[in-house]
Amino acid sequence: MSHLVRVRFAPSPTGPLHLGGLRTALYNYLFAKKHRGTFILRIEDTDKKRFVSNSESYILETLKWCRIEPDEGVGYGGPYSPYYQSKRGNIYHYYINKLLKKGKAYYAFDTDYDLNIKRKEYKKRGLTFSYNYRNRIELNNSLTMTKEELHNKLQSCSSYVIRFRVEPGEILKMHDIIRGNIIVYTNELDDKILLKSNGMATYHLANTIDDHIMKITHVLRGEEWLPSMSLHILLYKAFGWSIPNFAHLPLILRKDGKGKISKRNVDSLDFPIFPIQWKVPDTGIIIPGYRELGYFTESFVNMLALLGWNPGVKKEIFSLQELIHLFSLERIKKSGVFFDIKKANWFNKKYLNKKQEEIFSFLCKELKKRSILHKYKEDYLWKVIHIIIDRIHFVHEVWNHSFYFFIPPNSFEKNFLKKIIHKNIIDRLENEKIVISNVNVFTSVNLKFLFQNNKKRKIIMQLFRLALVGVLKGVDIFIIFEMLGKKESIQRIEKLIKEIKKKI
Ligand code: GLU
Repeated sequence: MSHLVRVRFAPSPTGPLHLGGLRTALYNYLFAKKHRGTFILRIEDTDKKRFVSNSESYILETLKWCRIEPDEGVGYGGPYSPYYQSKRGNIYHYYINKLLKKGKAYYAFDTDYDLNIKRKEYKKRGLTFSYNYRNRIELNNSLTMTKEELHNKLQSCSSYVIRFRVEPGEILKMHDIIRGNIIVYTNELDDKILLKSNGMATYHLANTIDDHIMKITHVLRGEEWLPSMSLHILLYKAFGWSIPNFAHLPLILRKDGKGKISKRNVDSLDFPIFPIQWKVPDTGIIIPGYRELGYFTESFVNMLALLGWNPGVKKEIFSLQELIHLFSLERIKKSGVFFDIKKANWFNKKYLNKKQEEIFSFLCKELKKRSILHKYKEDYLWKVIHIIIDRIHFVHEVWNHSFYFFIPPNSFEKNFLKKIIHKNIIDRLENEKIVISNVNVFTSVNLKFLFQNNKKRKIIMQLFRLALVGVLKGVDIFIIFEMLGKKESIQRIEKLIKEIKKKI
């Protein structure tokens, strides 16, 4: 394959992109870059009814955040402008006339009312109505009209559609790079509408014409478009155009077995579905995306790339450049893939080590907010980061996992406190405080050694944790001691003693 590879991502502006849509964009991007080809963004906005404002800027911003920007298309320009289908109406009209002249398309005047009656009639007989070669002759269309009759009809009738005329009796042999050979009998197809009564091209017509004009070599799109492939191929044939390569990508499924993920079920999912935040136009409600939730671009894109594609090597962490290098359509899975948020978090964790500077500045901000940043040397902050980094998945989690290295607890876990409140506990704490005070070289190793054979070790450790952290959480208690130093540690133990005394 050469630099002539041209692929397009062709979303409809019907709302924000979800994980599936973005993965389609990503695979198009990876494939284009792998073959030094061109990645195009085309906005398929022929369906005005489903238009949602802000979708386009959302798509552009998402691609930018993921660092998979188009080479050509909406927002980027290029030789085949405009890249909005709504602005290409004259092109579609020019080509539909060609199909009409060739007898591959025809005018249909049936009203919705007529068609509904037909549907009902068929239903009564246990059949499903479809506008096709079997019944089109009896329906209200130009197939049985003379030129003159048609002319008159067009003059008098303001509303019509143009349908594709499927030739029956053909065995259509198609090839999908991921799914292999597919056979469709044209007898099973219906005569789809190509031009709607409002004069707008349908998705099928606009999509095939644009893919041809824009010299698209590979159509990589979601599996939901597989049923349209036969019509698209018939359209290419009808025009006499060469057929691009097709690859239909597997669906991304919900782990709970409730089908594919989609914008519609965003509320019922326990994981985010949008890459970046989406402001719902009607309500103004903001739904956070992966970006806002603290996922790194690199880990998110890495995760998404492996959601349906097997790199063929025993490794999971890849830079964008590595993904480009390894990417191949042949290793895309056929069957649906399950999305697992835990895996997405795992990926983020894997990238944390490379993001230590970000963690550092986040921590500084938290300390500044509390006006205590000046108290700490950089070195101390770095130590804290290295101690807790294994426990976090996101930069913003640093504070929840490290606050006790900076501020003493202002309350103590109530349930535990209730359990242990009695006089002996005060004596025990006083004792251990003396033990701790006597340690000259205040290191975690020395402290650990002191307590290792203590029979009451478990409860003592819990008491220490309560004193130093406030809750029964945190890293190794002796490391906390060492980091806080003797003075601060003793002060915290004394505070706990006071608190218990108050409660007795
Ligand atoms: N406009 C279609 C969509 O919104 C694109 C289908 C295709 O790529 O052919 O998904």
